[in-house]
Amino acid sequence: AMPLLAVRDLTIALPVGGRMVTIIDSVSFTLGAREILGIVGESGSGKSMTALALMGLIDAPGARITGSARFKGRELVGLPQRAFRDLRGREIAMIFQDPMTAFTPVYTVGWQIDEQIRAHGRVTRKDARARTIRLLGDMGVPDPARVADRYPHQLSGGLRQRAMIAMALSCNPSLLIADEPTTALDVTVQAQILDLLRRLRREYGSSVLLITHDMGVVAETCDRTMVLYSGIIAERGPTGAVFARPGHPYTAALLDSIPPLHGARPARLPSIPGSPPAPADRPAGCPFTPRCAYAHDACAVRPPLLPRGVQDIACVLPAEGRDLPARCATV
Ligand code: SF4
Ligand code: MG
Repeated sequence: AMPLLAVRDLTIALPVGGRMVTIIDSVSFTLGAREILGIVGESGSGKSMTALALMGLIDAPGARITGSARFKGRELVGLPQRAFRDLRGREIAMIFQDPMTAFTPVYTVGWQIDEQIRAHGRVTRKDARARTIRLLGDMGVPDPARVADRYPHQLSGGLRQRAMIAMALSCNPSLLIADEPTTALDVTVQAQILDLLRRLRREYGSSVLLITHDMGVVAETCDRTMVLYSGIIAERGPTGAVFARPGHPYTAALLDSIPPLHGARPARLPSIPGSPPAPADRPAGCPFTPRCAYAHDACAVRPPLLPRGVQDIACVLPAEGRDLPARCATV
């Protein structure tokens, strides 16, 4: 069957200091119906940029996007803005870390969701409100009729996040892109929102692209995982396999940085010294070389992404017969 989304060699270059710099380099992945794919990496790894490209929201002057991203067979790369506007909200919706960016402060939450519903079809105000209340209820909002009459700032962070997801789902998008949806929330609310994302595919038939820096979030939510480093795929595969037997030293380092269950989740990764190179300063070989405990001469040539069992790994170690140790505990 044709995947819902097939991204092939997606490459995004931006002009930086008078030259074109490749921010995202040949990223490929597919997303099936009702599948949740995690895109994970530190900040600056290109996760959000990938998502914005799929939404037609890269508006940097001089940006050059090449490769292919087929959504339901339709090419998104080079799609005119008018067509993108039509897709956004109706077919592809996005939720963010901060719901205040999705809502305006001056109208009630319910009114804003009503408007979103009415913008995409002939619906009376009364029917839209009934749908809004049902959606909020589906999102686990207690007393949805009352919450609908609140202004965004009157709601807790968790309720705001649920309301934003309700608004994103109001037009039954087949693809939901969630960019760090739980990063600002405490651990309990975070678990509830992740549970909600898992339920969406059952009850709404949605596929989800979940963008996060947190391997713990991936473990709890995603069928497959793709690890990005400096705009390049380091590793991808089924989540269980990636967690049990990471093939790329960066993946292993990310896994080592998962805090203990119920612990506070750090925004940074304490176990990997240093930070990813800015795309303009990316080394010619493997971009992880400066931070990698296994770096050696062979790493001076960029390793291609090659299959290893059920995973794909961009590292010279597997070809050298030097697999990383399997992890005894999964999360
Ligand atoms: Fe480390 Fe070399 Fe593998 Fe890159 S290619 S992750 S530097 S061992
Ligand atoms: Mg980001």
